[in-house]
Amino acid sequence: MGKLDGRVVIVTGAARGQGEQEARLFREEGADVVVADVLDDQGEALAKEIGASYVHLDVGEEEQWRSAVTAAKDAYGHIDGLVNNAGILRFNSLLDTPLDEFMQVVQVNQVGCFLGIKTVAPEMTDGGTIVNTASYTGVTGMAAVGSYAATKHAVLGLTRVAALELARRGIRVNAVCPGAIDTAMANPALLEPGGDAEEISRAVGKLYRKLVPLGRIGKPEEVARLALFLTSDDSSYITGQPFVIDGGWMAGVSLT
Ligand code: NAD
Repeated sequence: MGKLDGRVVIVTGAARGQGEQEARLFREEGADVVVADVLDDQGEALAKEIGASYVHLDVGEEEQWRSAVTAAKDAYGHIDGLVNNAGILRFNSLLDTPLDEFMQVVQVNQVGCFLGIKTVAPEMTDGGTIVNTASYTGVTGMAAVGSYAATKHAVLGLTRVAALELARRGIRVNAVCPGAIDTAMANPALLEPGGDAEEISRAVGKLYRKLVPLGRIGKPEEVARLALFLTSDDSSYITGQPFVIDGGWMAGVSLT
């Protein structure tokens, strides 16, 4: 018996990184999965490998959400879960952030999450689940990622309000708040193996050994296990909550 037997789950940003691991784990646990992304080649290849469906979905585009919902229902007949995972990060001090860049991050991280809830929830089976991907920076500040942190705080607001409004249908809405996770977002070396990649990876490893109490960067598979918990009946009495997964980073400052 899988933890998600008989359930249909849409995972956005699932072509790589945390979304990919969520799609893989959810399939292993018996779900039918709709892999949604803008990286069509990678998304299609993953879907083929794990026996899922692929749909092109730019999460900031309402019309594309409608098509994705139709595709999911055509393929499987119902939708029981959504993981709003797609996201982008831009580095800049607030004072140097051009409005265009700020709005680009808002469009994907915040509007994308809003549109996911707005479009999928009305079509979702009662008792379904939504997992939004916020961040460590959704619960505290971090210099140089102002646009990103603002959107991730907003994702927690959306999570709480959606949990309140959808509870009457038994739909639970929670958020994961990852710290540093070893994907292309935190470790761009993963995108271009060779060249400086090893050096960048070593520097990233050293940074997180120092910053994170557990002494290492997190793995996308670890976030996938938290998303599985929040999507399965194991979390049946939990809704409206942020779940920090950060190796102890948020626990406080270590003097040694
Ligand atoms: P990633 O860059 O490997 O994956 C992000 C995925 O989102 C990619 O597949 C990308 O193509 C997709 N995407 C980007 N824009 C999109 C759009 N408009 N529509 C649909 N898909 C889009 O990084 P990741 O770490 O796997 O990121 C997953 C989520 O986790 C993001 O929301 C990110 O903000 C969040 N997060 C990551 C970290 C980290 O350290 N890696 C920490 C906290 C939160």
